[in-house]
Amino acid sequence: LIILSVETSCDETSAAVLVDGTIVKSNIISSQVDVHRKFGGVVPEVASRKHLELINHVIREALDEAGIDFDELDAVAVTYGPGLVGALLVGVAAAKAIAFGLDIPLIGVNHLEGHVSANFLVEPKPNFPVICLVVSGGHTDLVLISGFGQYDLLGATRDDAAGEAFDKVARVLGLGYPGGPLIDKLAASGDDTAIPLPRAYLAGDSLDFSFSGLKTAVINHLHRASQKGFHVNKANVAASFRRAAVDVLVDKTLLAARQHNTGTIMLAGGVAANQLLREEMTRRAHQEARRLIYPPPVLCTDNAAMIGCAAYYKYLRGDFAPLTLNAVPNLPLGQDRY
Ligand code: ATP
Ligand code: MG
Ligand code: FE
Repeated sequence: LIILSVETSCDETSAAVLVDGTIVKSNIISSQVDVHRKFGGVVPEVASRKHLELINHVIREALDEAGIDFDELDAVAVTYGPGLVGALLVGVAAAKAIAFGLDIPLIGVNHLEGHVSANFLVEPKPNFPVICLVVSGGHTDLVLISGFGQYDLLGATRDDAAGEAFDKVARVLGLGYPGGPLIDKLAASGDDTAIPLPRAYLAGDSLDFSFSGLKTAVINHLHRASQKGFHVNKANVAASFRRAAVDVLVDKTLLAARQHNTGTIMLAGGVAANQLLREEMTRRAHQEARRLIYPPPVLCTDNAAMIGCAAYYKYLRGDFAPLTLNAVPNLPLGQDRY
């Protein structure tokens, strides 16, 4: 079963070809970071235009690299939310045209279901139920997965997403954009106990997150330093920040696993590429005899292969979208809108 998948929800134009939902024949990712870097973040209107320029080339390249012709495709899948509406629309329009032209099923995929499903490329037969921590530029969610396509949201951030906090702290440190990978790299040479930073656990056994206090504490630290004229060791700030963020992410994920008695934990989203998060989660999951699964870094950040994987399980369920499919910028996980 051959699926072509398309992802354009933010600033990566991506297309992939998957066989049987597990074999990635191609996964072309054209990042727009160089275009957005001079603005210090993604400019939605610029992103839409770039997707429009790139989409046909990226799809062509995905088919060529896979050695697959259009007429061999069994279905076409596309991210239709959540994300930037103008960016999503480019992928949705392209996928609809292909589905209509070839008379094959159209599969609408939730971007977060895509992030989660990157784990099924690593482990196609997980032992459900599973706790998945979805940590990305726009989300920090704890999700209970009872089976393919069965999600319960257990907790979410009340303010900033973890990736957003990484990006903002990187900006105030003058590291550049996107900040997550730069903080991760710099932190490796810093002392993570150098600066005391707050960890927000919230009341009782809450599985919600809050990262704005941590971000503000870093900003205040830098302000005080510049006012009093003392030297800032950026590596120490990066390391202390990364440690504070990872401590909370790991603690709450394990709390969720204990609460729901799940033997397996998964990581998803761009921040799941973070080196310390992967190490700490590995160590702590091992201590509690829980199995940890995470995708390789390239499948953690935005890509179309994860969308193709999610689409495969929707195909098996016969869950197809009509050709009237529209972009849904605030689409919640597990609630299709078509
Ligand atoms: P969403 O998936 O919520 O719609 P998004 O698609 O913009 O948002 P992703 O592409 O999944 O987000 O992830 C990008 C985020 O991951 C950015 O905030 C980036 O800084 C962060 N990130 C990437 N690599 C790392 C890393 N090694 N350490 C920390 N953060 C990272
Ligand atoms: Mg991106
Ligand atoms: Fe994403």
